Amino acid sequence: MQIVKTIDEVRKTVKAWKKEGLTVGLVPTMGYLHEGHKSLIERAVKENDRVVVSDFVNPTQFGPNEDFESYPRDINADAKLCESAGASIIFNPEADEMYDNALTFVDMNKITKVLCGKTRPIHFSGVCTVVSKLFNIVQPDRAYFGQKDAQQLCVIKKMVKDLNFDIEIVGCPIIRENDGLAKSSRNTYLNADERKAALCLSRSLEIGKKMIADGETDVKTIILAIKAEIGKEPLAKIDYVEMVDFNQLETLEKVQKPLLCAMAVYIGKTRLIDNFIME
Ligand code: AMP
Repeated sequence: MQIVKTIDEVRKTVKAWKKEGLTVGLVPTMGYLHEGHKSLIERAVKENDRVVVSDFVNPTQFGPNEDFESYPRDINADAKLCESAGASIIFNPEADEMYDNALTFVDMNKITKVLCGKTRPIHFSGVCTVVSKLFNIVQPDRAYFGQKDAQQLCVIKKMVKDLNFDIEIVGCPIIRENDGLAKSSRNTYLNADERKAALCLSRSLEIGKKMIADGETDVKTIILAIKAEIGKEPLAKIDYVEMVDFNQLETLEKVQKPLLCAMAVYIGKTRLIDNFIME
């Protein structure tokens, strides 16, 4: 398995595959890969003849006071994980290779302004731009995204429809640690106390899920219970907890499927996200 640094080289490789009639899957990532990423790669390997994993900490999706500089990076460990998962190449460009004084950005209204978009106003423009570029560079048949970033999945599906990309978007379930914490490259920021405190995200979501299973239909009541559970944890500060429909991302008053119950919570200085989806 090769680590490829240039757009040209990826294009040449993919063109040669397509000439042979092979199908191509793409897994976009920011690297520092874990079992969550691995599950996406393995799914892509099952469903395609060749798989490209992009490994790029994309500067345009980070706000000015966010963690772009400190975001963890380890391309050698990533290469090992990709190889063991059966990927064909890792595309690991420098920022200049990807942007080269670019003036064009992809932006979207409405669904990028809610949930994480409120706290991270430029985030989804950066995501849509880099994913569009990766789609144009790799021209995959399918691209794989985790439900861990549920809003991102929703945004990408909408962008693909709006801009007529001929690519199937595949959503993959959240992979968790044994104790319930959703796997994330940002979990490495947590110290031992924060790691324990971070369990309030998955624990509170379980409470919400159970309330729905037990017949509660009032969204406000469920959100209050979820917030109360997080509120018990002194190291946690809620950014948002919301229940929205999983297409338009509009706030729900009554439980109604498909629904997304999503949250962002600061544990110390680390902002973590988690959710459950009912379809
Ligand atoms: P990232 O490197 O954080 O940008 O994530 C790259 C892709 O991996 C995104 O589609 C994420 O949703 C997905 N991903 C990250 N963590 C997980 C997880 N715990 N389970 C499933 N997918 C994940």
